[in-house]
Amino acid sequence: MRLIFERPSQEEYEAGTVFCVGRNYVEHAEELGNEVPQDPIIFTKPYNAIRHGSYNIIEYPPRTKEFHFEGELVLLLRGGGRNIHAYSAADVIAGYGVGLDLTMRDFQTEAKRKGLPWTVAKGFDGAAQISHFIPFESAPPFEELGFSLWVNGELRQRASTNQMIFSPEMLMPFISKFFSVRPGDLLFTGTPRGTGPLAVEDKIIMQLHTSNPDEILLDFHAQVTEWG
Ligand code: MN
Repeated sequence: MRLIFERPSQEEYEAGTVFCVGRNYVEHAEELGNEVPQDPIIFTKPYNAIRHGSYNIIEYPPRTKEFHFEGELVLLLRGGGRNIHAYSAADVIAGYGVGLDLTMRDFQTEAKRKGLPWTVAKGFDGAAQISHFIPFESAPPFEELGFSLWVNGELRQRASTNQMIFSPEMLMPFISKFFSVRPGDLLFTGTPRGTGPLAVEDKIIMQLHTSNPDEILLDFHAQVTEWG
């Protein structure tokens, strides 16, 4: 799957591994009753989970009664292999987008309780909704980014990168200790407070913006439908 830039770019990327960070905002960790982590919590989503576009369909998965959105800033990674020592965001980031780490929260809660993997809870078809990207070169500095998320016109999440516990420069050395990072790999950087349930026909809008929410860089739309 070729990844799309919304502004001209010299580079081309095919979607690779989807890395995700858990509990990267203090307030969301508290909201779920979790401790603030010492090391980042990393999990992955399989390729089948990826839906890439600017007007996406979200299929409401079977059997869950607690289907949650988690709005997140998504980084398109340049690659770099193993043992990346990132001194600046430019070393690792090719582009910025937004996305939804969709989660069957009841499945995840059960898995946590039993000490089992999250793969079904967070890896089902369509669980990684990803917007188009703006190239790193034409974006503001990472520290000046933010995003907002509305469900049916109601603002539900709004965050700035300066509220993150682990910056990209901190995340990439940790991830690349264990995983060889390839061009086109993607990184969901964690969700702030305000996650919540979705129902069929709900409409989500996300905007990537600067620290000023009126300075919009990118839009993303999605609508929930029945599982096909
Ligand atoms: Mn998440």
